[in-house]
Amino acid sequence: MLFDHERKRIEVLVETFTRKQLGLKAHTVKRVEQTEEFMIIHIDRLGDRLLRCGLCRQRCREVHSVRKEREWRDLSMRGLPLKLRYRPRRVKCPRCGVRVEDFPWAEPWARVTTSLANAVARLAREMSWQGTARHYGLNWKSVGTIIKRAVQYGLKSRARPAVHVIGIDEVSRRKGQVYLTVVYDLARRVLLWVGEDRTEEAVKKFFTEEMGPRRCHTLRVVCMDMWAPYANLVRQHARNAQILFDRFHIVKHLNEAVEEVRRSEMRRLTQKEKVPFKRSRWLLLKNPWNLTADQKERLSTLVRWNTPIVRAYYLKEAFQLFWEYKQPARAKDLLKKWMSSAMRSRLEPFKKFVRMLRSHLDGILPWTKLRLSNGAVEGMNNKIKSISHRSFGFRSAKHFIAAIYHCCARLPLPVER
Ligand SMILES: [Zn+2]
Repeated sequence: MLFDHERKRIEVLVETFTRKQLGLKAHTVKRVEQTEEFMIIHIDRLGDRLLRCGLCRQRCREVHSVRKEREWRDLSMRGLPLKLRYRPRRVKCPRCGVRVEDFPWAEPWARVTTSLANAVARLAREMSWQGTARHYGLNWKSVGTIIKRAVQYGLKSRARPAVHVIGIDEVSRRKGQVYLTVVYDLARRVLLWVGEDRTEEAVKKFFTEEMGPRRCHTLRVVCMDMWAPYANLVRQHARNAQILFDRFHIVKHLNEAVEEVRRSEMRRLTQKEKVPFKRSRWLLLKNPWNLTADQKERLSTLVRWNTPIVRAYYLKEAFQLFWEYKQPARAKDLLKKWMSSAMRSRLEPFKKFVRMLRSHLDGILPWTKLRLSNGAVEGMNNKIKSISHRSFGFRSAKHFIAAIYHCCARLPLPVER
């Protein structure tokens, strides 16, 4: 049982503590009230200290009126969520006219304090919005609003150093259905831009709105897929940039060609003929000197058969040598030889692949000198996939885009005053 004066003293301590925690200067903590669910902090103006304009933050001499009480959710203290209550003043700002005052604990229209908003934002970089909401006892929508605001602030306030090397890629939302285009700064390994859709029209905004002519001017290399429709945009908006068709995408198309051959062969073969091909992929990809006697026997059988599947695997392996060459002339020579042997392979998917290479050689050969690829940001692409999974696929693209910026663009959070 506490005596009244003791209880009073503890409350004063809590008030002083809270005032210092919130960094109040023109405001003070009037009293702290504890209920079953919350700790409510009643705030008031401190004497006649000057309040600031909510728009320009300039100190204002005159208070115009007192508005009705508002409430802000704050962080929890020992499991008890804090709530701030205060009657906002409207001040007469010499520059902006009558405005609601500036709150040192929150952004102008926020219903949570900046400390809570930033804590929520930090956690939402690691886990789902649902999980974050549960952790802080908020609903999903409030978390969404906090992230959206944090991203808006971050995009407005982030540093914009000159960009020299970018990678353009696409990610799908909801298994190969709706596509987004992402642009990375490959040197800093950071996300620069996300756009809805993957058309030339959609990606144009990156060059015109996000970059603008001056920043486009410093672009030196743009890494992308051969099948992407953006090459024209680069030629139009970033004239100093070399287009480089991305190694990982080229290999992906090559693997698809192998897979297509394998699938059509498997359809053609009888059940009995299929047996030697079971798990043959691994056999064909392994270095021959690592094989056991038994495996060598199986391999030589496969090779003697010279089936389309075997030819496809060997073509694929031979192509991979291209990435190792250091001299452009030799690399070009190898590629030309490879293309003519692939054309003679009687494998339709490979012929299609070669035709694709032929019309894009000016963006493939520079690899030997540049040695850049979107592989540098593969981790980021995986992160985007996991964002999409853990959120069960965002219903709206706007939310998904905000989450991508939030997790991959290294945006600054609002400053806690
Ligand atoms: Zn003002």
